Amino acid sequence: MASAAAALLLVAASHAQTGPSDALARDIFKELIEINTTDSVGNVTTASEAMAQRLRAAGFPAGDIQVLGPNDRKKNLVVRLHGSGKHKPVLLIGHLDVVEARRGDWTTDPFKFVEKDGYFFGRGTQDMKNGDAIMMAALIRLKKEGFKPSRDIIMALTADEESGSSNGVAWLLQNHRELIDAQFVLNHDGNAITSDHGKPLYFEMDGTEKVYGDFLLSAANRGGHSSLPVPDNAIYHIAAGLERLARYDFPFELNSVTRGYYERMATIETGQRAADIKAILQTPPDNEAVERLSRDAVDHSIMRTTCVATRLEGGHANNALPQRAQATVNCRILPGHSPEEVRRTLIDVVADPAIKVQYIDDQGEVRDTASDRRGYPPPPLLPEVIKPLDKLVGQMWPGLKVVPAMSAGASDGVYTSAAGLPTYVVGAIAIDKDNIRAHGQDENVGAESFYRGNEFFYRYLKEITSH
Ligand SMILES: [Zn+2]
Repeated sequence: MASAAAALLLVAASHAQTGPSDALARDIFKELIEINTTDSVGNVTTASEAMAQRLRAAGFPAGDIQVLGPNDRKKNLVVRLHGSGKHKPVLLIGHLDVVEARRGDWTTDPFKFVEKDGYFFGRGTQDMKNGDAIMMAALIRLKKEGFKPSRDIIMALTADEESGSSNGVAWLLQNHRELIDAQFVLNHDGNAITSDHGKPLYFEMDGTEKVYGDFLLSAANRGGHSSLPVPDNAIYHIAAGLERLARYDFPFELNSVTRGYYERMATIETGQRAADIKAILQTPPDNEAVERLSRDAVDHSIMRTTCVATRLEGGHANNALPQRAQATVNCRILPGHSPEEVRRTLIDVVADPAIKVQYIDDQGEVRDTASDRRGYPPPPLLPEVIKPLDKLVGQMWPGLKVVPAMSAGASDGVYTSAAGLPTYVVGAIAIDKDNIRAHGQDENVGAESFYRGNEFFYRYLKEITSH
């Protein structure tokens, strides 16, 4: 009996930790998942309107809520919780749109919110309607408490982060900067806690990200009859160029964020891996350690710009010499480097004047040169952001370390960073390392993990706006 009572107490205690706004967050989460916001047939405005409705119902004045955008299907939501004005505002951003999902590929309907075996399933449960719901719940909770923050809290829930041509953050910055101007930005879109069978391993806070760039490699020649082959063949040019690219690694380089990442990882990892990490932190770095770590795809991507062939086409008939062959090469560029710099490197690497190397811009247009603009160097880790984070993570996950990181993907942070707003990815949802399903099928998030992330974000937001 005694042990059963103790167990009951434990259950009660662990439940109490998740806080009273769980039901609200879950309810918002469900509503968002069930509004299809894909670029093809979805509607972001519907989601923005639904959130606006909830905010009005929670007592936000209509004048502090805007639903606006470039067209009827891609309207963004902006809301402001007024503070005392002691500090400049903080801006929270999250995208409402999701990647396409086909019912046939999924076990459940991707646009139905399904709770199964302790997990929530649906498109956007990881990327990132979970974060949208959590930010909404935090704002509503603060509003209902009558909390007066020391700075305005602005939240923008936006369109077209994943695809489409109406990126909400870019549009707002261009057309309504005054609505979202802030001292710094918290983006909820990214990795947070990586866990292994539910056990948290580390808490990641993205402080910078790589820049996305597509390049087109093409070769063209006169072609001719395939019974009379000549060495000058468009397909062979491209194939040989790609072969040289496959063997090429961009130079090893760490920046303030990735250096900070490895410094903390060195204290978490063990054995050879820990030794290798320490060795790459030396000046100069140990090349063999770089080599060994590079066999891991994640480390490989953290330590350098990467470029990889992703598409290939060529020729026009089985019995004709190819007049044209081309490959698409996708690059993820380290902050501090420009797409044009990478294009010139690609020219050197493929080392064949017959191969033309062009840049494919965001609209899909092929251009002879790329932008010279360098990716934004990582912002300093602001004490008002990082200190409360260390403290709160220590309270909620004793022993877990906050690791600054560089996202290998790209998020709306590129726009806010470009606008001079230091941007940090802060969230606390734990995803098992073998259950990373953003953009994939059967996307899901653990219910407990969602509730903990919900409680975390409310407390964190309150902490950074209390002083
Ligand atoms: Zn996302």
